[in-house]
Amino acid sequence: MSDLRELYQEVILDHGRTPRNFGKIEETELHADGHNPLCGDRLTVYLEVDGGKVVNARFDGSGCAISVASASLMTEAIMGQDLARVEQMFQDFQALLTGKLDPEEAPARLGKLAVFAGVRDFPVRIKCATLAWHTLRAAEAGKHDGCSTE
Ligand code: ZN
Repeated sequence: MSDLRELYQEVILDHGRTPRNFGKIEETELHADGHNPLCGDRLTVYLEVDGGKVVNARFDGSGCAISVASASLMTEAIMGQDLARVEQMFQDFQALLTGKLDPEEAPARLGKLAVFAGVRDFPVRIKCATLAWHTLRAAEAGKHDGCSTE
């Protein structure tokens, strides 16, 4: 388990340092700002949806390694997925972080997002990890004024 933990840690640090899909999508109405006042994380999520599927997802902003890594891995995970599947991932992700989903089952349900399993041991970090997802939901709904974890 400790090897797995180290691997998970490495993936988070890598995505925190070198976030994927970082940037804006200019020509979309689906974007929202998210703010986690506890930690100072601020993210904007941009989405393009076509035929009920996510065809493009990007984010920008700044925050701690966990919030940035979470947004980076989220944009990778949701790319090409239909919105119902994205909602299911969000539910499973929250369940993982709040201890309702067994970390052993997480890789099968969440793929790479399972790397956040360790965050459940640091309750103050859970909002960092879920900020991107709450912001994604606001973006999906076209709520430009965004959301706060508080
Ligand atoms: Zn944070």
